[in-house]
Parts: sequence; structure tokens; C-alpha cells
Amino acid sequence: MEKKQFQAESKRLLEMMVHSIYSQKEIFLRELISNASDAIDKIYYKALTDDSISFNQDDYYIRIETDKDKRTLTVKDTGIGMTQEELEENLGTIAKSGSLSFKNEVEMQEGQEIIGQFGVGFYSSFMVADKVTVYTRSLHSERGFKWESNGEDGYTIESYDKQDIGTEIILQIKENAEEENYDEFLEQHRLTSIIKKYSDFIRYPIKMEVVEQKAKEDNPEELEDIIEDKTLNSMVPIWRKNKQELNDEDYESFYQEKHFGFDKPLSHLHTSVDGMVRFQSILYVPEQLPFNYYSQDFEKGLELYSNGVLIMEKCADLLPDHFSFVRGIVDSEDLSLNISREILQQDRQVKLIAKNIEKKIKNHLQSLLKNEREKYVQFFEAFGRQLKYGVYADFGTNKDKLKDLLLFYSSSEEKLVSLKEYVERMPEDQEHIYYATGESHDRIEKLPQTELVKEKGYEILYFTDEVDEFAIRMLINYDDKEFKNVSSGDLDLEDEETKKEAEKQKEEHKDLLAEMKEALGNKVKDVKLSTRLVTHPVCLSADGEVSIEMEKVLKQMPD
Ligand code: ADP
Ligand code: MG
Repeated sequence: MEKKQFQAESKRLLEMMVHSIYSQKEIFLRELISNASDAIDKIYYKALTDDSISFNQDDYYIRIETDKDKRTLTVKDTGIGMTQEELEENLGTIAKSGSLSFKNEVEMQEGQEIIGQFGVGFYSSFMVADKVTVYTRSLHSERGFKWESNGEDGYTIESYDKQDIGTEIILQIKENAEEENYDEFLEQHRLTSIIKKYSDFIRYPIKMEVVEQKAKEDNPEELEDIIEDKTLNSMVPIWRKNKQELNDEDYESFYQEKHFGFDKPLSHLHTSVDGMVRFQSILYVPEQLPFNYYSQDFEKGLELYSNGVLIMEKCADLLPDHFSFVRGIVDSEDLSLNISREILQQDRQVKLIAKNIEKKIKNHLQSLLKNEREKYVQFFEAFGRQLKYGVYADFGTNKDKLKDLLLFYSSSEEKLVSLKEYVERMPEDQEHIYYATGESHDRIEKLPQTELVKEKGYEILYFTDEVDEFAIRMLINYDDKEFKNVSSGDLDLEDEETKKEAEKQKEEHKDLLAEMKEALGNKVKDVKLSTRLVTHPVCLSADGEVSIEMEKVLKQMPD
């Protein structure tokens, strides 16, 4: 028998978990069942694509057992199991997938309630158990292993003679403490309702022997205990269900079950397509920006199923970059199971699905903007920048698809407005769409260059995001109205008389201007008289294609 220590970060998480007084201990069961289901997915998929493994649908299930006297709760699965290496790798460290994000969240919120909001996998069992024992045998191993830990000082691993492939996890449920009741996790009713709540869509039967009191057949006055083997979950995947049968809560709990985010979904989109390509999908717009969203660590993608069996966890090809914030699943009966990553990229069906999905997301966002403005603004505040990048990075048709989804802060409305709204409000004599750039709305407000435009009664869009002006330059115009930076040289807002007067003045003050230019040296390109100032004495203005703000951004970029 070998005794090993947990990795440092696992240890810290374990401590927190055990000592945190948090209300949703019950999620440990969701975690164990999800793991069991993942493990069955893996063997199921293998069996379907590998003839040497015999295949029988009934062989795939999860079983829950309780023993009140021994205070044990067991979760058994007929999944792929773990080899010794896998045991150490997977249960000796915090789930790699979630660990990083978890750590960050923890540091932010000092980790009390948060554990309940999303799973932290296998380790959550230590919230309710003093000791966890895992018996497992891998499809790829001749023998089984026993892993055991009290969640505090490491774990042990030893060989164990296990007959069947699969995993059995036994929790030694804690004794009740002062304000903590753990007995509930040994009660069938309670377990049944936890499973219904979180794991109803698990695709394999979750079975449990349930004792029910029924009237005796020969004597209906008397009750007797009948033991029945029950399947507790409905198993129909949520995406196969009829939309009418589902409510927001169902979609929310699926989002959580899938660990799509630590937040709640802002909105969801459930579709079933039956045409050139057939697929079902549930897509979510998250409420909050994932902490790593604008970093290289972020991976976009949708979960891809072929007829109910998971074939890829993050299929990036299904989402364009400008919608990379979307999470969700796609299930298509037109995909073959043993499709490889490489083939998938070339696959015509996948391309068709991706195209269709892009259109659906766009329409969904558009309708949010139209019908649920507040939600849309919330969305845009989190992810709007990505849409603007999408416009900027585009050499094809994205910009036309995305331009109506953009919002900018407006000088006159003092809130985010769309380009369409701007154009519809334009006074008759206004030819261009005006914008001003700066660090903040306040700063822009004080720009001398905005004065004349405002005096004319024109609305100005305030660009505070670095990408704003770059994106707008890609668009060039909207509804045939050209975009104009209020700071650019040629605003052409003056009437003929003012222009003439300006020419005259320029002649008169020629020497003064030349002297000023000399004094400023190479800090400026030229010193000119301006007609656009109302109350300010001077302003800086950019000459040519690149504005002052853009120049700043470009200078920061690595070569
Ligand atoms: P996650 O599920 O996010 O990867 P977990 O902590 O829940 O994190 O599980 C860690 C890993 O342990 C899983 O990824 C899986 O490889 C392995 N594992 C856990 N439970 C089982 C099981 N019942 N059968 C096979 N492997 C399992
Ligand atoms: Mg898990």
C-alpha cells in the first residue's frame, strides 16, 4: 500500500471545503453522478466504435446504495474506470479543468457560498464524508485498485481484486454535528429529490432500490414494505425535450450541471433544425464575462454530441470568434461517431451546422436588443468589445452581420445607443455620423472639438474602448452616412461666410502662426487657425487617416 500527499492546492481547497459552512452540500451528488456519467460516455463511445467490446445498452447504468447502520452512501458506475496512474492523476490533484478558475474565484470571494454555486468535482464529497473509498477497474487494466482518503492528510492506493470494469465510490457520511445534519444524505427521499433536481437529464439510468409502503393485496387495510428497483431520472436529454415542457429553471440547472459558467445564463436559445442538416442545440449567452475571457487561456467551443453521445467537449469550429462567449451543446444525428478532430474541421455537416448556429445567435441577440433592451445592454457591457473586435478583424462579411449589434454611448441620450437609432434621429442637414474618442465620457465631454458639433445640434458617439475607432474605420459608413471623428481636420461644418472669414484671418496672422509652429518644433506638424472652437482657445487635431487616439494604441502594440 502506498501513502501519498495531496498536491498543495488540492489541500487548501479541501480544507476550505470541509470547514466552510455552506448551504448546498447536496451538490456533491451531482458531481459524483456527472463523473459517473462521463465515465460511461467514454466506454459507451468506445463500445459503439470498437467491435472488440461487446455492446449491450442495459450494461450502462449508475447505481446508488445506502446503508444507514454503516452510514455509507455508494455511487457505482459501469463506466470506463481508472488505471492506477489515472487514479493518482485525477484524484490526487484538483480537477485540472476547473482548478485555475476556481482558485481565482476563491481568492476573490474568500470561498464560502461559492462552492455551492458550481461544482468542484470529486472533492466535494468531503463536504459530507469523513472518508471516501474508491474501488475502480479500468477497461485498460487487468486488475483493480482501491483509493482511500479522509480528505486531510493524503490518500492511499493499493491493488484490489475487482471483477467488473467500472467505479464504485463509497462515502462514509459524517456524524451529525451541532447545526449540521448529515443524516439526510442517507434518506432515500432526500436522495431521490436531489437526483431529480440536478441529474434528471443524465442519459443513463440512475437506479436505486427504494422501499415503498403499499397496501397488502390480500388485506388492503394493512401496509407492507415493498422493495422496488427504481430508475430515478427521466434520462431524456433536455435538448430533446419540447420547449413547452421546460422553464427557465430547467435551462439554468442544465447550465450549472454542465459547468458552463459560475454565473447564471443571461438568456438561452433552444432550437431544433430539420433541413439540409439536422441538429438540436441549446445555446446560452452568459451573464458575466469569464475571468479569462480576454486572455489566451480562454477556449471557445460548444459541446458536440452525435445522437446523444458526447464526441467533443469544446468544438471550436462551431462558433465564430465574434460569438466566442456563447456556451452550449449541439447534438446532431448526421454526424458519425468516430469522427476525428481533423476530419471534423473539414466536415460539411459541421460547417453547415456552424453557419446555421451563427445566424441563430445573431438573430437571438438582435431580438434581445429589440425586445429586452436592459438585458441586451447588460450583455453588451460584458461582451460588446468582442463584437467590435469581430468587426475590426473582418475581411469578409462579418462587419455587415455585426454592425446592427453594436452600441455606443451617445452625447445626447446619455446611454448606449445603436447606429440605427443614431441615424434615425439625425437632423436633416446632418450628413455624417460624429464620434469623439477619449479615455472616459468625462474627458470626451471636455474636448474642445465637440463644441461646434454639439452646437449644431448633432449627436456625438463617445468612443472609450480602444477598439471602437478601429472597428468603425472598418465599417467606413453606416446607412451611407460616413463616420467622422470630431477631431479630424476636415469637418466642413462651417458656412461659406465663416470659411471666407477664416481665409482672411489666416492671411493676417500668417507670421504669428509660423512663429508658434517654430516654437513648438517637431511636437506638432502644423499650427492652424480653427473655426470649430466655441469657448476653448486651442485644440489638437489629427491630420490624415490615423487619429490621435488610434496613434496611441498603435504605439503600444508590439512590433
Ligand atoms: P472533472 O470532472 O471536472 O474532470 P472531477 O474532480 O469531478 O473533475 O474528476 C476528476 C477526474 O477523475 C475526472 O476527470 C475523471 O477523469 C476521473 N473520475 C472521477 N470520477 C470517475 C469515475 N466515476 N469513473 C472514471 N473516472 C472518474
Ligand atoms: Mg466532475
